[in-house]
Amino acid sequence: MVNFIQQEIENDLKAGKYTDGIHTRFPPEPNGYLHVGHAKSICLNFGLALYNKGICNLRFDDTNPTKEDVEYVDSIQEDIKWLGFDWEDRKFYASDYFSKFYEYAVELIKRGLAYVDDLSAEEIRQYRGTLTEPGKESPCRNRSVEENLNLFERMKAGEFADGEKVLRAKIDMASPNINMRDPVIYRITRAHHHHTGGDWLIYPMYDFAHPLEDAIENITHSVCTLEFEDHRPFYDWLLDSLGFDVNSRPRQIEFARLDLTNTITSKRKLRQLVEEKFVRGWDDPRMSTICGLRRRGYTPAAIRDFCERIGVAKSNSVVDIAMLEHCVREDLNENAARVMAVLNPLKVVLTNVDEGAVEYLTAENHPKRGGCRYVPFTREIFIERDDFMEDAPKKFFRLKPGGEVRLKHAYIIKCDEVIKDADGNVTELHCTIDPTSKSGGATANRKIKGTIHWVSASHALKAEVRLYDYLLKTDENGNVPEDFIAALNPNSLIVVENALIEPSVKWTAAGTHYQFLRLGYFVVDYDTTPEKLVFNRVVGLKDTWAKVKNNS
Ligand code: ATP
Ligand code: MG
Repeated sequence: MVNFIQQEIENDLKAGKYTDGIHTRFPPEPNGYLHVGHAKSICLNFGLALYNKGICNLRFDDTNPTKEDVEYVDSIQEDIKWLGFDWEDRKFYASDYFSKFYEYAVELIKRGLAYVDDLSAEEIRQYRGTLTEPGKESPCRNRSVEENLNLFERMKAGEFADGEKVLRAKIDMASPNINMRDPVIYRITRAHHHHTGGDWLIYPMYDFAHPLEDAIENITHSVCTLEFEDHRPFYDWLLDSLGFDVNSRPRQIEFARLDLTNTITSKRKLRQLVEEKFVRGWDDPRMSTICGLRRRGYTPAAIRDFCERIGVAKSNSVVDIAMLEHCVREDLNENAARVMAVLNPLKVVLTNVDEGAVEYLTAENHPKRGGCRYVPFTREIFIERDDFMEDAPKKFFRLKPGGEVRLKHAYIIKCDEVIKDADGNVTELHCTIDPTSKSGGATANRKIKGTIHWVSASHALKAEVRLYDYLLKTDENGNVPEDFIAALNPNSLIVVENALIEPSVKWTAAGTHYQFLRLGYFVVDYDTTPEKLVFNRVVGLKDTWAKVKNNS
């Protein structure tokens, strides 16, 4: 792990800081499902801990009761485990620290560093000033410590209405950094909290809670995205003001968030897609949520590999989604068993094969890993409609009238006759096999340009196959427009109802990956039942990222 954050950690260790070891955390707010951007943060935080033989906490940053829910708490844990990381016994809730936060706030008041303000939210905004003008001090700013303690306690006891009073840090209304102009640190909200219920009527603001959560958990390096850079002075001010030792207290380091072409990485927008039913749910295989990627058939190893390869940057940029797909393809190429499936079937009758005869041919499961299975071969088979062309150009090396092609794992066949319906549509082909052309036969090595896949008509299993394209249409740079609902791709899901698959895949569990020869990588979907197989296409075989790499 070589990145600038690791460098900073090593510098800190050399300087004699953090002698108890490295301790990071992943701090999701449980207000939605995790997405691919969170995967980067998870890999980074857990990865830094592993690399430095330290530990990483899972912490639910649940200080905003109105948007949070246990459904999200559960899904987040499932997703992190699936990615392959372990918080052991260190699962925490920011809401467990509500009493401590309160005590720290009282301590700030006692030190003359916080005050209760009567200004309304609107007035606070007006008093705040602008980037070019300093702010104005609130008339409540110089309340005595006693008065502040009394008012803050009464805020907690519910004596005031929502929004009637707030607690603010007392720093500097003229600071060039607006975050330092007496930020609000506590507000009154009568809301039910999914973890603490109705215990609290006042809630800490994120900027106040986060450094304290880190300090309470003895976090050493608090890694977050760049938009928090301007908040770091307050992070440090707060911990300094409360007397945390600079050699052991947490340190905030910002990195560039992951943005991917063709992809939404905002919980709010993802929630809109689910709530307004533009997708089938949070785990719709077109979603950039971790559960969506999982259902799509992306593997944890591929996602971790991707996060490692993109590295950690100090300025924002957009990563080409082709790179993520490349990582998935690499993993599946290595690990997925090969089978034959036909998505758009055309019947072929092999006129010199006996009716009722079944020959079991051995077929290799994987070019490198080996293993074999039996594939039934019969008089009637199906091939891909695209693999036959009546008026074929010279360079068409698949099946054409009078032409020959090899059936994968089987015989060379010759197309003798094309059968059509009254409208002139091709309905079946009559072909003959070269009986000595299978593996080990006298004409096995006869030179034939094309090899196509096929399935036995009497043995193939029916399946529903779901083919996906990007959920959103983008500009030429892959950027999703602001009005993403208008950019929804109407062809992002194509369902093939009657695909045919070789029988060896019967009874495989949801989540099992295959390469359908020549068609791409597929995964068994959770919708599969003993009566009906359902597959998702994970990625096609064509690797646009490898192409980009080789051309540059
Ligand atoms: P969103 O903007 O989608 O609501 P968030 O930042 O509000 O995301 P949190 O639950 O607060 O979501 O995120 C948990 C952690 O994941 C934070 O440390 C955050 O910085 C990090 N994170 C969120 N989005 C990304 C991203 N796109 N790339 C890298 N890290 C991210
Ligand atoms: Mg956040």
